[in-house]
Amino acid sequence: MADANLGRAPLIAITGQAGREQIHKEYYPGPAKEGRNVVNAVHDFIATWIDDLVMRERVGYVFSALPEGVQQEFMGDPGFAIGIYDTGRRGGSPLLIPCPQPARGSRLVALERSLTARSRAFAHYVIAHEFAHALLRNRGRHPEEDPEVAADSLAAAWGFPRPATLPLLGADPGRNRLV
Ligand SMILES: [Zn+2]
Repeated sequence: MADANLGRAPLIAITGQAGREQIHKEYYPGPAKEGRNVVNAVHDFIATWIDDLVMRERVGYVFSALPEGVQQEFMGDPGFAIGIYDTGRRGGSPLLIPCPQPARGSRLVALERSLTARSRAFAHYVIAHEFAHALLRNRGRHPEEDPEVAADSLAAAWGFPRPATLPLLGADPGRNRLV
């Protein structure tokens, strides 16, 4: 929510509880099946959320690079979702936030569709940074750590460092926290 605001995309959230059958996009990893390999599982998971083929490839690339434990945490959490939204002339887009889970809430990684038009390195970084926020539930890794610093640090550890062309975090807090 905060990140969407910082990206200058107006965001209105209408919230409510709905049964799983009413939220059309759901992914159930289910019990491991024989012959069902990890690559297919990741592919299916990403395809559940993303129709756009370019976006699907980019998100899949980053997701596949996450540590296996992180992948499993996201894939096994009914409160986790990925949403794609448009801004500007294309108008708004609904983003479905999953039902909060007991004691864990829910997490939505919202990615702007224009990421498909950016360089691969930049898009990969943004996607990894947002996955890091989701993993850390928008917090730092310890109480004093800035969530943005934490997300950048985790993204870099996964192989997606902040591009050198972006302003340094904290150099101008009013303007630079774009992602
Ligand atoms: Zn961020």
